Amino acid sequence: AKSSVDVLIIGAGASGLYCAMTAAQRGRSVLVVDHANKAGKKILMSGGGRCNFTNYVVEPENFIGNNAHFCKSALIRYNPWEFIGLVEKHRVPYHERDYGQLFCDNSSKDILNLLLDECAEAGAKVQLKTSITAIKPLPQDSDKSGFMVETSKETIHCRSLVIATGGLSIPTMGATGFGYEVAEQFGHQIIKTSAGLVPFTFTDKVGEVIASLAGISLDVIAFNERISFPRPMLFTHRGLSGPAMLQLSNYWQVGESIHINLVPSVDISELLRQAKAEHPKQLVRSVLSEFFPKKLLLALQDLHWSDLKDKELANIKDETLDAIGDKINNWTIKPSGTEGYRTAEVTRGGVVTDEVSSKTFESKLQPNLYFIGEVLDVTGWLGGYNFQWAWASGKACGEVV
Ligand code: FAD
Repeated sequence: AKSSVDVLIIGAGASGLYCAMTAAQRGRSVLVVDHANKAGKKILMSGGGRCNFTNYVVEPENFIGNNAHFCKSALIRYNPWEFIGLVEKHRVPYHERDYGQLFCDNSSKDILNLLLDECAEAGAKVQLKTSITAIKPLPQDSDKSGFMVETSKETIHCRSLVIATGGLSIPTMGATGFGYEVAEQFGHQIIKTSAGLVPFTFTDKVGEVIASLAGISLDVIAFNERISFPRPMLFTHRGLSGPAMLQLSNYWQVGESIHINLVPSVDISELLRQAKAEHPKQLVRSVLSEFFPKKLLLALQDLHWSDLKDKELANIKDETLDAIGDKINNWTIKPSGTEGYRTAEVTRGGVVTDEVSSKTFESKLQPNLYFIGEVLDVTGWLGGYNFQWAWASGKACGEVV
């Protein structure tokens, strides 16, 4: 069988569906194909099932990528209020959480249904359980420019071909490296990919101690030389998780240490020196007991001042108190790695953005070929930024295909 459409979009996820509805609203014939048995699986699992669909405050600084300027054009043209407007039009109840994050009150399904309804209303078709076997560009000067795309079901001619296949995270949900392969087929370069927004793992003694504290959470500041995140941190039996760790993971390279201020509101060195002056018979752990669950306090003591555990403050040198304070306000540990794509929320790296137009998302190497969403080397923070990027890039592309 053979069919022909103006726009063929590969990937019925966040960016692909947004692009589809936008192009179809302009009167283009649009087909979205996806190898999965369901559209938007990542939308459904996002935000703990409540989809953190955008953020009130979106800045280019909330995104990483080799070219920091690339994301600006689409983000400036797609204000978060545009998506909020859609959410309100479809009467999807939502609420704000800290740091401007917007979540559904009920279910991520509301967001997926909104997109599928808009696609259906505009006449964009979605075909699932369809994989791509070959993409052949047609000569530029022929009547039928564009591509012949062979799928497991039929051969499709399209004028514009949009790659919206996302990143590598959560392979069990249908993530593949397909988008990178297509990019390479047309001569594009790929920035090496790695897991982002992902928990850290540890080995050795620190790993064991962390595992023994599984379930404890703490408001910390996680930081490195480049950036800091005041957010909650969670001890798990596999390592360190929670928003503070996920955010920092976007800025971490293998082999680097991470820093954690375990008690951001207090200078612990100063507190210990003061306690020594006022209550010289106290122990370090009694001074610190108000800041930590007992189990965590004892674990820190075991790791960092076990030889002083029964010494009164009066018998501990000021410099030693300072060193203990430093362990608390600047806990420095070296992850052995991350949990990887199995649990990562995003993929860092991807299609090199210098070879793609930031206005239209068209390839600079192959006319009528487009890349949108997470497949590009643009990675957002935790907090609704990755969807905002999917909507913004999907819309910008949908306006020109
Ligand atoms: P996707 O939405 O991943 O869509 C890609 C589509 O392409 C999929 O449907 C896939 O089946 C299809 N596909 C892949 N390979 C092929 C192939 N070979 N052939 C055919 N089809 C293919 N971001 C937020 O902003 N807020 C959140 O709350 C949030 N929560 C998340 C929670 C989890 C657990 C995860 C994993 C991610 C979360 N994200 C969140 C990130 C967000 O889901 C992604 O950044 C976003 O979905 C990317 O959109 P996309 O269109 O580029 O790719």
